[in-house]
Amino acid sequence: MNEENIAEHTHQQELICKNCGAKQVYAPGKNSLVCEYCGTLNEIQVKDEEIKELDLEAYLGNLSESTPTIEIQTVKCNSCSAQTTFDPNVVSNFCAFCGSPIVIKDASINKVFKPKGILPFKVDKKSAETAYVKWLDNVWWAPFGFKKKVQANEKFSGLYIPYWTYDSDTSSDYMGERGDDYTVMVSYTTTENGKTLTRQRPETRTRWTHVSGNIFHFFNDVLVIASNSLPRAKTEKLEPWDLNSMVPFDEAYISGFRTECYQIDLKDGLGLAKIRMDEEIEQLICQDIGGDHQRISSKQTVYSNLTFKHILLPIWISAYRYNSKPFRYMVNGRTGEVQGEYPVSVFKIILVILIVIAVILLIVQLKK
Ligand SMILES: [Zn+2]
Ligand SMILES: [Zn+2]
Repeated sequence: MNEENIAEHTHQQELICKNCGAKQVYAPGKNSLVCEYCGTLNEIQVKDEEIKELDLEAYLGNLSESTPTIEIQTVKCNSCSAQTTFDPNVVSNFCAFCGSPIVIKDASINKVFKPKGILPFKVDKKSAETAYVKWLDNVWWAPFGFKKKVQANEKFSGLYIPYWTYDSDTSSDYMGERGDDYTVMVSYTTTENGKTLTRQRPETRTRWTHVSGNIFHFFNDVLVIASNSLPRAKTEKLEPWDLNSMVPFDEAYISGFRTECYQIDLKDGLGLAKIRMDEEIEQLICQDIGGDHQRISSKQTVYSNLTFKHILLPIWISAYRYNSKPFRYMVNGRTGEVQGEYPVSVFKIILVILIVIAVILLIVQLKK
């Protein structure tokens, strides 16, 4: 065990209530630990350290001796493979991502990248649950009886989800075409009162010219979810995150919450970050080309000064199974933004189609 790990373990002591000795957990929105037993609040001293990016090249090769890591005890879900920390006081538990039962005795020790920064929970469990009830009122296409069933099954977990963020200078050479519209008058023949006439009407045409150029852009904090346990597209919709409010990682913030281990490593994360950067680069190229239309035939991007951070972001999750399939409901633990999945009822869709057909037939009948 190196020095850093010892420091992490002794830190556990600070999570004990000074008043009664019980365990303290993080209180969302308060920057304090609250005693689960006597309710005493203890403010967390935010560490006076810069949340610095790390040079990517140096870390991509391998997790070297100097890599800041921490050891955490995690348990893996047999159903969806999510790997999370757990409450050691609870013997049996459930997977926050898919709702399946988890056996705590299968826990193992994992050595992972130490997170640089963390956005502590701001939205508390109660608010997340209130938002859930509201969301349930709007799931029109869910099967009848769905609402009742999932309300009874409600299992809310506050989870810190692992993310990578990447910074990069990019330089992109491109070739393409610029389209400029112009109007021409075209003659056409028409028949009016039995006479054939020649008239003119305006028509839009596009003139294409070859273009090429270079775009330089600096990307700051391109976010990549390092988890495979959440639906990626839905989770991205929880953005934006107030990354400017990030604080240096401190175990106090994760006390009472679960943390997921990253499943996507630094290198694969970079691949996903490049896809996100690429979308923006294409937009920038189109702006650079100008005109009314743009076509990009080729582009080549060089990435330089690549740096990264490993961070944890807070999400409230309620996973439920419906007809043995997992569905997830998520709340951004900072903004309260809600995203959810639910089963769509084929029966309801057919019913609506039949009603529409019936209404059309009725109107046709009435007009006769
Ligand atoms: Zn206490
Ligand atoms: Zn699972």
